[in-house]
Parts: sequence; C-alpha cells; structure tokens
Amino acid sequence: MKNVLIIEDEAKIARFLELELKHEGYETTLALDGRTGYEEAQSDQYDIIILDLMLPQLNGMEICRRLRNDDIRTPIIMLTAKDDISDKITGLDMGADDYMTKPFAIEELLARMRVALKHAQQTGEGQQEDLLKIGELALNKSHHKVSYGEEEIILTKKEFELLEYLMQNKNIVLSRDMILQNVWGYDYEGDTNVIDVYIRYLRSKIDQRFDKEIIRTVRGVGYQIKEAKEQ
Ligand code: CA
Repeated sequence: MKNVLIIEDEAKIARFLELELKHEGYETTLALDGRTGYEEAQSDQYDIIILDLMLPQLNGMEICRRLRNDDIRTPIIMLTAKDDISDKITGLDMGADDYMTKPFAIEELLARMRVALKHAQQTGEGQQEDLLKIGELALNKSHHKVSYGEEEIILTKKEFELLEYLMQNKNIVLSRDMILQNVWGYDYEGDTNVIDVYIRYLRSKIDQRFDKEIIRTVRGVGYQIKEAKEQ
C-alpha cells in the first residue's frame, strides 16, 4: 500500500483528500501546518507528498527546497490556490514533480499521482542501491566515497565495508555475530573483538570528528547506526 503525506492547512480540502485517497486504497497521513509537514516528510517514509503552497509556519516552496536539499526524493505534487504561472515555475524549480491549481478534479490528481509514483519507481531503482544516507552522512557505493555534509571522510576498505553494512541496516540493532559474518565473512577465524576495534576507528572518523552520536552501542547485543539527534 502506498503512503501519502498530505500537507494542507485548509481542513475541508485536507479531509476531502484523505477520504478520496483512502477510498483509492492509499494510506494517508495529514499535516496541517508547514513545520509538522516538513518534519513528517523528513522521515522519508512516504511514497508521495501532496503539498499545499500557502501554509502556516513554513510554506510549500520552502518545504520543497529543504527536502530536496536533505536529499529526500519523494515525489511532490504541489497544490496552488492561485492560477499564477510564476508560482508553478518556482515550485518546479524547487524540485516539485508536478502541480495542480485549486480547485481541481480529484481524478486528475489521482492520475498525476500515478504518473509521479511510476516515475519515482523507475528512477529510484537505478539510484537507491548506490547511495546510502543517514542524515548528513552519505555513502556512495559506486564511487566508494563517504562524506558528512560537504566534508569527505577517508576510510580503509574494511571500515568502508563495515559502515556500508551498518548503513544498509540503519535503525536495526546488529549483533557482533551478524556483523562478523557479513563484513568479515563466515570463514573469518579471529575473534569478535575486531569489530569493536573497527567501530572505534569509525567513531573517531565520524562521530567524534563531527560531534554526533551516530554509531551506538547496544549493551549486550551489538551496534546500531541511527540518525543523530539535533543537539
Ligand atoms: Ca493553504
């Protein structure tokens, strides 16, 4: 089932959208102001976002710009009340995939959503595997590069493999055995202390250097990589 985030402050339109989309078999989440909507969208759990342009706290254009800046590529269909060509162009410039002028026919919105979802699926298939991201931390498999924000992080081959495995399983607690088998291989004969050593290397190059807690120790179990909380 596809998850739709609706960011719309006009309760009547928001409820109408929710009802229609649910009826079409979509799962919906509603945000009634810009800030809530942006925070929700940042979780990157949605397949598509319906985004109103005029919103309290943070407008649709700004949300769009920030999300694309955060490297969140969820398709966005912008809703604009004004039949204003410059808003449409700016919306598309900011990274929206499509726009609709209110009032609109629900069938047209549904059709555009299907197009945007299909397009996202096609482009996503090629890219997703290559780039792993957790907040500012990015790992590019094909270029064998790791960066935090704008700064490059130089890793050894093993450090890279360990980080890649952690990032592929973000938010999941990984036991030392799982890490050992997946990063060092089944035939590795050393002991699991090697993981702790390499975790220390990674922490000094990432967590300590950027003053964030990203690689966490889960006592008695193993390790977990998670987005750092805002300080
Ligand atoms: Ca509005």
